[in-house]
Amino acid sequence: MIPVTKAYLPSKQTYQNYVDQIFDSGWLTNNGQLVQQLEKRLADYLDVKHLICVANGTLALQVAFKALKLKGEVITSPFSFPATSSSLIWEDLQPIYADIDPHSFNLNPNEIAPHLSPNTSAILPVHVFGNPCQVAAIQEIANKHNLKVIYDAAHAFNVKLDGQSVLNFGDISTISFHSTKLFHTIEGGAIITDNDQLAKQIRLLINFGISGLYQVDAVGINAKMNEFEAAMGLAILDDIDKIHTKRTQIWHNYQQHLTGRLQFQTRQSNSTQNHAYAPVLFESETQLLAAVDKLNANNIHPRRYFYPSLDTIECFEALNNCPVSQDISKRILCLPIYHDLSETEQMQIIEILQHSLTTPSEVE
Ligand SMILES: *Cc1c(COP(=O)(O)O)cnc(C)c1O
Repeated sequence: MIPVTKAYLPSKQTYQNYVDQIFDSGWLTNNGQLVQQLEKRLADYLDVKHLICVANGTLALQVAFKALKLKGEVITSPFSFPATSSSLIWEDLQPIYADIDPHSFNLNPNEIAPHLSPNTSAILPVHVFGNPCQVAAIQEIANKHNLKVIYDAAHAFNVKLDGQSVLNFGDISTISFHSTKLFHTIEGGAIITDNDQLAKQIRLLINFGISGLYQVDAVGINAKMNEFEAAMGLAILDDIDKIHTKRTQIWHNYQQHLTGRLQFQTRQSNSTQNHAYAPVLFESETQLLAAVDKLNANNIHPRRYFYPSLDTIECFEALNNCPVSQDISKRILCLPIYHDLSETEQMQIIEILQHSLTTPSEVE
């Protein structure tokens, strides 16, 4: 079976070396040594000021909204994982969808202004598939209307824009370290900011608001990462360059063999690429479904990230429609990309796709 992705596992010995430290200390969670080590190494590696590890990428978003005291409406992208919107709704915030750009798949800054209201408190764009948003244009709108900017950077591990970490833009960036992501801690995530006050408040919020032995200074939540998760992160960080190299090879192989037949995401200029995903755009949903059928028949399982468009999910009760996002959602497919996808397996995927795209479709 070839899945869309496979969780990276370090060698048992590497993991064991970190886990031994947990058994030696007897300290399992609550800002332990390994979480502190991981935060420091990640902040250095990603070149960011404050990086606070949390239990997952969804809680990272929710804590970010609380720390920034958001109220009312938040402009966000309909082309994302459900958590981008559901985290807002859980915090009693109303997602307002601004449509995406059909080439970058990111929130289109020109679509923001028409949706602003006196109740708008923030913009929540997504660096989709690790492609940096138009951060300057978004910040300009935010400044003009006194809005906060939170980037859902779940896909943007180790992406640089204009020579610096893409995580440095906006008031806060959040990232996911879920097993399916490029870098993971089994479950986990982080909140990134360069604001000292905000970082302090976030540390308070993720630990029940507890500020002293018998002192509670904020209505907090439990969003802590534990030591075993941090151990996994540290072990994977030891291998991260190897992981990047392998994914880059796979991604370029797809691009080399499928360009012209399928459309690729248009990347922001002056940015680096982490190859976390291998999205391709078909001419029609019919063509996509035919290709998926043929791949599935060979036990290959790509995924339709992101389908359906979030503005069409009934329980999210969207207030507006985003035709571009709906169209892209129907035609996009993420191809398998992971560290131990072999060249033979990848060539099989490419050949099935090429064949599917040159023969008339059987799916109507
Ligand atoms: C994975 C993901 C999340 C959620 O992260 P979890 O760690 O799984 O909670 C949020 N937003 C986007 C865009 C994601 O891909």
